[in-house]
Amino acid sequence: MSDKLKTLVVGGGLAGLIAAYLLAKNGKEVVLIEKRKYPFHRVCGEYLSNEVLDFMNGENLLPGHYEFPRINTFLFSDTSGKSATIPLDLGGFGVSRYVLDEYFYQKVLEKGGEVKTGVQVQSVVYEEEENQFRLELADGGFLTGDYVIGAFGKRSKLDKVLKREFIEKRSPYIGVKYHIKTEADRKTVALHNFEGGYCGLNAIEEDKANLCYMGNREHLRMYGSINEMEKEVLWKNPRLRQLFTESEFLFQKPEVINEINFERKKPVEKHILMVGDSAGLITPLCGNGMAMAMQSGKLAAESIIAGGSRREIEFRYESSWKALFERRLWLGRKVQRFFGAKQASVFTRKLILHVPFVAKQIIKNTHGKPF
Ligand SMILES: Cc1cc2nc3c(=O)[nH]c(=O)nc-3n(C[C@H](O)[C@H](O)[C@H](O)COP(=O)(O)OP(=O)(O)OC[C@H]3O[C@@H](n4cnc5c(N)ncnc54)[C@H](O)[C@@H]3O)c2cc1C
Repeated sequence: MSDKLKTLVVGGGLAGLIAAYLLAKNGKEVVLIEKRKYPFHRVCGEYLSNEVLDFMNGENLLPGHYEFPRINTFLFSDTSGKSATIPLDLGGFGVSRYVLDEYFYQKVLEKGGEVKTGVQVQSVVYEEEENQFRLELADGGFLTGDYVIGAFGKRSKLDKVLKREFIEKRSPYIGVKYHIKTEADRKTVALHNFEGGYCGLNAIEEDKANLCYMGNREHLRMYGSINEMEKEVLWKNPRLRQLFTESEFLFQKPEVINEINFERKKPVEKHILMVGDSAGLITPLCGNGMAMAMQSGKLAAESIIAGGSRREIEFRYESSWKALFERRLWLGRKVQRFFGAKQASVFTRKLILHVPFVAKQIIKNTHGKPF
C-alpha cells in the first residue's frame, strides 16, 4: 500500500488521541472523530501509572503548567474500614482527564492532525472491493479512509452496530466520580471497599482529589438514587462516611456511567484496530487502564507507520497487543474477586499486612514495564 494513506480514529480518549498524535507527527494523514467537545470530565480514577512517564516526557506530553501529585503508597481498607498500606514500587501520579485529554487534543492539532468534535460515528464498514473503510456520521456526513482505529471506549453504540460479542452480556457495575477537596495524604492512592464495590481516592492537580467508585446497579435500583445508595451502602465503611461527610464536593452532580463490562474483546475486528478499552478494559482497581490505553494507541500507530499489507499490519498489532496486555487483563479479572465483599476484602487486607511480598507481586503483574 502507498504512503498517502488516511487513518480514521473513532473516539478521542487517551488511546485515540495518542494514536492520532503519533500518526500526525510521522506525517500520516489522520482524522479523529470524537462525539463530545473538549475539555470534559469523564468517569475515571485519574491515577496514572508511571509506566507512561518516559514516553510522555520523551514526547513532551506532560502538561507543564500544572504540578501533579506523585503517588508512592497504596492504602487498602476492607468493608469495615480497617486498613493496610504498602509502598508502590512503580507508583504513579494524579491528573484529571479534563486537563490531560484537552492537552493531548491540542497536541494532535499542533502536529497537523484533523479532529472533528461533537459528532458521533454511526457506523463503520470495510468495503472489500474498494479496500477502504466508510464511516457514517451523525451529522449526515461520510468519511472514507484506508485504516480505522477503534478507540471508542468500554461501551459504545458502535459495539452494537458492529455486532461485537461482549455487548450482549449485561454487567452489574456502575461508575461514579467526583472531584473533592480533602485533607487525605496526597502521596497515597486509597481503595476503600464496600459491599458490592470499591471506591478510589487520590490527589490530582490544583489541590484537588478524585473520588471515584465502582458500585452495583442493584444497589442503585434498591435505594432509588446515587445519594441514598452512598449513604446506605458506601458509608458502612467508616472511612468512606468520613470522606463523604467531611470533604468539599466540587461538582454540582457526579459523573455516572453504567454497564462497565470486563468481558474479553478482540484487538482486531472487521479489520478495525481496537485500542484502549475498545480492545479490553482492565479492572479499575489495577489503576493502569489509562497507561494501557496510551500504550495500545502507540502500538496501533506504530503498526500503521511500519506499513506493509493490511494483513501484515493487523498481525503486527494483534500479536504485540496480546503479548503486552492479554495476561494482565486475565489477572485483573481474577484479582477483582478479592474486592467488594466482606470476607474477601478482609482476606486482602491481611495479605497486604502479613505477606506484602505476594501483594507486591500481584500489583507488579497487573502492570507493565515503563515504555
Ligand atoms: C470507575 C473507573 C475508574 C477508573 N480508574 C482508573 C484509574 O484510576 N487509573 C487508570 O489508569 N485507569 C482507570 N480506569 C480505566 C480508564 O478510565 C480507561 O481504561 C481509559 O479511560 C481508556 O481510555 P480509552 O481512550 O480507551 O477510552 P475513553 O477514555 O473512554 O474514550 C473513548 C472516547 O470515545 C468516544 N466515543 C465513543 N463512541 C463514539 C462514537 N460512536 N463516535 C465518536 N466518538 C465516540 C467517547 O466519547 C470517548 O471520549 C477507570 C475506569 C473506571 C470505569
